[in-house]
Amino acid sequence: MTRQQTSTRTPESNRPKGLECPSCGCRHFEVLYTRATPTGTIRRRRQCRHCGRRVTTTEQIGVN
Ligand SMILES: [Zn+2]
Repeated sequence: MTRQQTSTRTPESNRPKGLECPSCGCRHFEVLYTRATPTGTIRRRRQCRHCGRRVTTTEQIGVN
């Protein structure tokens, strides 16, 4: 039995932008607010335009 180690971690900056709604699967989000946290990440509060589902995403800020 061969067990493959998945060491291919996707960098945060390389993540696809398309966020899908967990409820209806659409990609039409409205950004309610954007907030930077002291931990160096950006939080975005989004709301689905179709079903109204709210999703909070956390993004890493690129280190300059
Ligand atoms: Zn939705």
